[in-house]
Amino acid sequence: MFSPEMLNKFEALVKRYPSKRSAVIPMLMFAQDEKGHLTPEIIDDVARFLHLTPLEVEEVISFYSMLTKKPRGKYHLQVCTNISCMLRGADRIWERVKEKTGLKPGEVAADGLFSIEEVECMGACTTAPAMQVNYDFYENLTPERIDRLIVDLKASKAPDRSPGSVAVESTPLRRQDATHPRATRVLTSGMSDADSSSMENYLKRSGYATAEKALKTMSSDELIGEVKKSGLRGRGGAGFPTGMKWSFVPRQSPKPKYIVCNADESEPGTCKDRPLLEFDPHQLIEGILIAGRAIESHQGYIYVRGEYRYLYNIVTRAIEEAYSRGFLGKNVFGSGWEFDLAAHTGAGAYICGEETALLESLEGKRGYPRIKPPFPAVVGLYGCPTVVNNVETLSAIPHIIKNGGEWYAKFGPEKNGGTRIFSVSGHVKNPGNYEVPMGITLRTLIEDFAGGLREGHRLKAIIPGGSSTPILPADKLDTPLTFEEIAKAGSMLGSGAVIVMDETTCIVRVAQVLAKFYSHESCGWCVPCREGTSWLKKIFNRYHSGFGRMEDIELLDSVARKILGHTHCPLGDAAAMPVMSAIQHFRPEFEEHLKLGACPLEKELATA
Ligand code: SF4
Repeated sequence: MFSPEMLNKFEALVKRYPSKRSAVIPMLMFAQDEKGHLTPEIIDDVARFLHLTPLEVEEVISFYSMLTKKPRGKYHLQVCTNISCMLRGADRIWERVKEKTGLKPGEVAADGLFSIEEVECMGACTTAPAMQVNYDFYENLTPERIDRLIVDLKASKAPDRSPGSVAVESTPLRRQDATHPRATRVLTSGMSDADSSSMENYLKRSGYATAEKALKTMSSDELIGEVKKSGLRGRGGAGFPTGMKWSFVPRQSPKPKYIVCNADESEPGTCKDRPLLEFDPHQLIEGILIAGRAIESHQGYIYVRGEYRYLYNIVTRAIEEAYSRGFLGKNVFGSGWEFDLAAHTGAGAYICGEETALLESLEGKRGYPRIKPPFPAVVGLYGCPTVVNNVETLSAIPHIIKNGGEWYAKFGPEKNGGTRIFSVSGHVKNPGNYEVPMGITLRTLIEDFAGGLREGHRLKAIIPGGSSTPILPADKLDTPLTFEEIAKAGSMLGSGAVIVMDETTCIVRVAQVLAKFYSHESCGWCVPCREGTSWLKKIFNRYHSGFGRMEDIELLDSVARKILGHTHCPLGDAAAMPVMSAIQHFRPEFEEHLKLGACPLEKELATA
């Protein structure tokens, strides 16, 4: 069924894991790349290869949105219509894609060239609106660029399905964001050079010297102590103190210990891990190596979201470079320490950003969150002690160990040490990923870094920490960006994704888009989340299409409150909070929709 190259790839894949089953998602993704979609024969062969039943493989396929048993066109066009793209005109892009291809979602063109799909956030929020053609990103789109793209794709003589093969321009804005003149460049300090992702460039920047020092001269307690002093808190969303998390790992445990990097960023509005993976993968690898030493682990994994295939390739290449220099593997730096690291691809499931769901996925299963306790530090990957840290968190580690925890802590106020990369998207002049000290205000970030709002517009609302955090009204603009101050203002710092909305934004529509997203991403395990998110979506659809009833406002609020705090993992709260905050701060707008039987702003939104 598979080419000899593919079989070699599968053989290499299974060697990365203590359990063969862990390879099932990468194998299915690679098989799908080669064959176009997952046929019964592929499923049987993968099952046989991994000593699973075909049903077990089917079970995995049905959970992950990027795995498909349906044929697709040679070019699969996926248009993001989630919040940051919506605010920048994604509806027009989606309409144009449908018009130009003449297709409906799920259809394949008669000549087999195109298929189309409306997808949730793909991590291009600061370069919205965006779409992917197979794995390639096309960003800052306009309807005219869609026209050109379709013509170019149709003209391709022998288009290739492999990543990076579609020769159409893209706009790499992210490096420029990192080098903003007012940015505080710690994690982004190496991104000025065109070859910043290469080993040579990293070594010129004294790369891996800190890991060598850590492995040869520092104890676990010293490393954890420095990270505690730094005040570093998890940058993925939860904000848990990193040093404390590391200290929970029982070092006397006879079981293997694992360090897992969560590169599954998929919270709408968030795309700050993308430049770290793209432009400085060695900084991340060095951070993982030090973290591994601190918790006395000899094996790490980088779980990269499926949509970030080009980053998976970059990270894989960087890992190979590190092995070839002796920075990974046996006797690292001649220190006697052994450490192996592998990249792992996800397959499109937002819930796998939750650390225990990610571990299930890494074990080759559906990404269902686990019941906690026990926490992963004690019972994690394969039942062994495991630390799961975000990309940005781990990328900060070499700087903390090199310069000392106190040095890092001083960038921010108490309990909020260091810098943070904020993704600013939506109605600002210069959307981007900006590294700034913790504690600056939302106003400074939006006005000084992102250039303020579009000309002639005024601020209406801000989502300060990614789509799962409550919406704030414009009068909270002077709130400092710390965990505590944003909480006092009524929201959360979350993943550091600041979504800015001006007066043309329909808040009912924003809440509708988010409700649809969480309904789509609910893993379906617990009833309040599965049923509640589905009901929120249905009520919003009715409401926004002009058939809302006055009692729907209370109904939405009541359904959201029945989800909040009653679910097994944080996705339930994430679905409820935007709805509740939208009603709390913008109730008159909900009422106006009912009076008019339509959205008063829809026209303006469509032309935004
Ligand atoms: Fe799954 Fe939602 Fe329950 Fe989380 S809250 S476990 S996503 S059903």
